[in-house]
Amino acid sequence: MPPKKDYAEDDNSHDGIVAALHLVQTNCNNQGNFSCPNCTRVYQRRTTLNRHLRLECGMTPQFPCPFCNHRSKRKHDLLYHVRSRHNEMHWNGS
Ligand SMILES: [Zn+2]
Ligand SMILES: [Zn+2]
Repeated sequence: MPPKKDYAEDDNSHDGIVAALHLVQTNCNNQGNFSCPNCTRVYQRRTTLNRHLRLECGMTPQFPCPFCNHRSKRKHDLLYHVRSRHNEMHWNGS
């Protein structure tokens, strides 16, 4: 008897993100939250994370902060983060 794949119930989970969902499921904590394996987002529902992975996370370039684990969707946001949080006023992202 093969183990039951509970993500098979989800219509959105069949096109290339099954591996990501597996990561999500192994990473989720006792509170039942689903954390994105690609960024720092955490969602209450797997379907919401699924939509994030399909429409948001994979589609938008991520700009990781060189000083901490923060990631920004836009370079402008990352520059703002670095300047406000790390006081690197002359850092231009290069
Ligand atoms: Zn993400
Ligand atoms: Zn940072």
